[in-house]
Amino acid sequence: MPTLERLHSHLQALTLTEADAVLEAHLERAAQEQRPYAEFLDDLLQAEHDARRVRRISTRLNLAHLPYRKTLAQFDLAFQPSIDKRQIKDLQTLRFLHEANNVIFLGPPGVGKTHLAVALAIEAVEAGHSAYFVTAHDLVSDLVSDLGQATREGRLDRRLRVYLGPKLLIIDEMGYLPLDDLGATVFFQLVSARYERGSIVLTSNKSYADWGMVFGDPIIATAILDRLLHHSNTVNIRGESYRLKDRKKAGLLAPPHKETDPN
Ligand code: ADP
Ligand code: MG
Repeated sequence: MPTLERLHSHLQALTLTEADAVLEAHLERAAQEQRPYAEFLDDLLQAEHDARRVRRISTRLNLAHLPYRKTLAQFDLAFQPSIDKRQIKDLQTLRFLHEANNVIFLGPPGVGKTHLAVALAIEAVEAGHSAYFVTAHDLVSDLVSDLGQATREGRLDRRLRVYLGPKLLIIDEMGYLPLDDLGATVFFQLVSARYERGSIVLTSNKSYADWGMVFGDPIIATAILDRLLHHSNTVNIRGESYRLKDRKKAGLLAPPHKETDPN
């Protein structure tokens, strides 16, 4: 077998897919530039390494079930002056993830809570971690439907492990819908099980004071908040909806308090 063919067959057998694909190009370049053997090999392995990293990230991003992909760089901090830039910078270091701390984004609709949660998930995945995004509603209905019986019997079920596995769990839209007793119980179990073990990024349009209503029971709400907030960062966003920004600009929406505006 000619050398080149044998090389390809070695690379394929070793599943060095990218190196196999770029071998000729690298050989040609090495010949043209008279690169030393070590450099040629280094370049070829680097290409394989890079391709694997990209593939791994892309797989993890798909597994994360993000509703959309938006990054921190795409977030206009100037539009939300109530957000402390340093806090976002600190979150971007992923220190919270290494310390299994939680991050909670609070604020009215459209202020960028989900965007920031998604962006943190992308940061985590790009740093090599696993992440999983789920709405509070889907999470609870999934756990309740699968766990109903198990929870009533006080067992920790397999289904719960889906939400315990990822390094980062994003729970979006907590509080849009109130939970019944079983919903509150499974949510409590999940938060307890991840407590000090894995980070939760949570978004909610309800302030902590209203969580008693969300869980239908102030005692369980207190127990959940206790664990959730013990090691956590809260980002309280008090601003306007980004969704309305362009409509406002186009004059389709009157600015608030127009009548009382002296100008
Ligand atoms: P929330 O979850 O708080 O209701 P989203 O995060 O879904 O709001 O934001 C609504 C839309 O506006 C999304 O498309 C998001 O990317 C965009 N958005 C919100 N705030 C900003 C911002 N400050 N800079 C850029 N885009 C933003
Ligand atoms: Mg949202």
